[in-house]
Amino acid sequence: MAQLSERMRALVQPHLADIEPYDPAFSPCKINLSANENTYPLPAGVREAIDAALAATPLNRYPDPMANELRDELASRHGLARENVCVGNGGDELLFNFLLAFGGPGRTLVTCPPDFSEYGFFASLVQTECVRVFRDAETFALDEQALLAAARDAAMVILTSPNNPTGDLVPLELIERVCAACPGIVMVDEAYGEFAPAGSSAEVLLARCSNLVVLHTLSKAFGEAGIRLGYVLAAPDIIDVFAAVRQIYSVNVLTQAAALAAVRTRDAYRPCVATICAERERLARALGALDGVRVWPSAANFLLVRVAHAAEVRRRLRDDYSILVRDFSSAPGLAECLRLTVGTPEENDALVCALSELTGKEGR
Ligand code: PMP
Repeated sequence: MAQLSERMRALVQPHLADIEPYDPAFSPCKINLSANENTYPLPAGVREAIDAALAATPLNRYPDPMANELRDELASRHGLARENVCVGNGGDELLFNFLLAFGGPGRTLVTCPPDFSEYGFFASLVQTECVRVFRDAETFALDEQALLAAARDAAMVILTSPNNPTGDLVPLELIERVCAACPGIVMVDEAYGEFAPAGSSAEVLLARCSNLVVLHTLSKAFGEAGIRLGYVLAAPDIIDVFAAVRQIYSVNVLTQAAALAAVRTRDAYRPCVATICAERERLARALGALDGVRVWPSAANFLLVRVAHAAEVRRRLRDDYSILVRDFSSAPGLAECLRLTVGTPEENDALVCALSELTGKEGR
């Protein structure tokens, strides 16, 4: 999006004058591997269940503000109670509400870039200072000591596990130490958690870390980025805060109905998630075998790679092969990096083939 007009710069709140909105850098392509969506069809029967639920949903009534039926279903998925769950219009809304509730002038949010750029954006909207604890430039490992030191003075910490775009997990033992060090609230963003090995989720810490919030979304493993449903798990008094600041009807009746139908059939998603994880490993091996391509290990549904002339490679993938990937080469700490969503086997083959042409001798 272009900058604000001079007229608007003078009228908006001063701290918003230079705001740079999140740009998903979308352009229509045959193969879209740019936004970490699930590119597989929904499991058999799930679309039908969702369609039936939508058809049976009256549109003339306001939604249940807290989506209690859905909260109950989500709570049972995680072995928790309704009081531990709050839903939102995508994970994004919950991230914003987190900053809105616990941030503000004079308070700090700790993040560990390279990570999801929305954290810094939402912090700037609510005038919250962002303390950035950069990861190791080569391995992207977290700087544990610097993180713990920063957490001691923070109102909020966000850890992303698996992290977008680097794909690595935060060890549970470190999350627990950050929770102990931080006087404020620690959010672990598990938007990609379903793609990680069993036992990686911070939700096991909820019972003993009373300042922990775990964020989830149906946009990734559940293949429903379009319905916009995210949720947080936390202690009841933290959930009360999320409930207090939210727009009461932000999760509309159609989203509630579709999400409920999807979550009820959650076991049907397991084979698809397993296939994506297997494809991730196959794709990583194939890309790693290409000359001049560095691939980082990933526990998510995407891979971060480094190639020479990344911006040009991304442009040629889009224009010559109709494959859209995400270019991070101008983001701090991500020189020459592209993020590739793991697609279907056919999409992944097309990507490897195109990249081998672009990075091979004939492509240079
Ligand atoms: N957290 C992370 C790390 C993400 O990558 C995303 C989406 N790209 C989100 C949260 C928000 O996802 P959504 O709003 O679609 O639920």
